[in-house]
Amino acid sequence: MGAIGRSQLKGKVQTIFGVMSPDDLGITLPHEHFMLDASIYYQEPELISDMPLSRQPISLENLNWVRHHQLNSRDNLILDDEQEAIEEAMLFKLEGGSTVVDCSNRNHKRDPRALARIARATGLNIIMGSGYYVWPAHGAEMDTKTEDEIIQEFVEDITEGVDGTGSRSGIIGELGTSSPLHQNELKVLNAGARAQQITGAAITIHAPRHEADPLRVIKILSDAGADPHRIIMCDIDRTLLTHERRCELAQTGCYLEYDHFGQLDYYFMPGIDMPNDNYRINEIIRLIEAGYLNQILLSQDICFKTMRCCYGGHGYAHIIKYVVPVMRAKGMTEEEINILLVENPKCILTFI
Ligand SMILES: [Zn+2]
Repeated sequence: MGAIGRSQLKGKVQTIFGVMSPDDLGITLPHEHFMLDASIYYQEPELISDMPLSRQPISLENLNWVRHHQLNSRDNLILDDEQEAIEEAMLFKLEGGSTVVDCSNRNHKRDPRALARIARATGLNIIMGSGYYVWPAHGAEMDTKTEDEIIQEFVEDITEGVDGTGSRSGIIGELGTSSPLHQNELKVLNAGARAQQITGAAITIHAPRHEADPLRVIKILSDAGADPHRIIMCDIDRTLLTHERRCELAQTGCYLEYDHFGQLDYYFMPGIDMPNDNYRINEIIRLIEAGYLNQILLSQDICFKTMRCCYGGHGYAHIIKYVVPVMRAKGMTEEEINILLVENPKCILTFI
C-alpha cells in the first residue's frame, strides 16, 4: 500500500488493510489490546513470601493471588501469544462482533504484522492506534523529541504506514495522561491535536486518574486545535464517579468510553469504588436520559492475561454475551443498544 491523502480518508474508516466504508463496521469494540507489553506497570510485591508468586506464569493454582495482585505478576502484564490472541478474538467474532480498535501504542510494543495476522485468521476488521502512553513509559528520548517530530510520526502512521509495513493507523492514541499531567504528555497531546487537524482522525485518551483532570485534558486538546467532538475520553468507569462529573465532561461534546466492562476488581487502585456491570449500565441509562446517548462508547480494554477467557477472565465477547441482555432487562431499547455498539463507534472512527 502506498501513501494515502486526506481526501481519500475523508468519510472512511481505516483498518490495517486499508480504508473501508463505515457502514460495514458492524458491532465494534473501540478499545482493546490483542498484543501488548504493559510491564511498565509491574511492581514488586511488598511481601518477600509473595516474590515466587510474582515470577510464576499464571496457572489455576496462583490465579486468585494474581487477581488480587494484578500488577505484581509480570506474566499477567504481557500479552505476547499470537495464537492465544487469535483464539480469544475469535470468541468476539463468533458472537457477531466484527471490528476491534487495538489501542496499543509505541510504548506497548505495538506490532502491526501480528495484528494483520490476527485480522486474517479471524476475519475481524482491526484498527490500529498511533500514540504514546503515560510518561514513565515514554523513554529518555521523549525529553528531546520536538512536538513537530511527534506530529510527523502520527501523520506518517496514518498516511504512510507503521514500521515500513504499509499498514496504517486509523486513530490517534491511546495517548497516556497522568494526574498531574507531565510536560512530555502535554507535548504529545499538543502533537495529537495538530495531527488530528492534518488527518481528520479521532483521538483516544487514556484518562488521568484525578476526577477533575479529564476536563482539563479536553481543554488542552481544544486549545491546541482539536475538535472535542472527535475525542474519546477512556476509563470513565474508574475516573468519573458521579453523574454530575460525567455530565460536565459530556457537555464538552467528547465521547465518554466505558471500557472496563467485565472488570469487577480494582484492587490495584485503592480508594476507587469500581462499579460492576449493573452499575455501569445504570450510569449509562442516566446519561441517556440526560441526552448523551450519541456520546457513549463501550469496550473491555483487555490488557491483562486475567481478563482473557483462557485464564478465567471475561474476554472480548463479554459485552455482547453478558452485558447486552442486562441492558435489555433494564429497559434499554434495541435502537439504543445498536447506537452504542454500532453507530457511535462508526461515527467517531470515520475520518472527517
Ligand atoms: Zn488501553
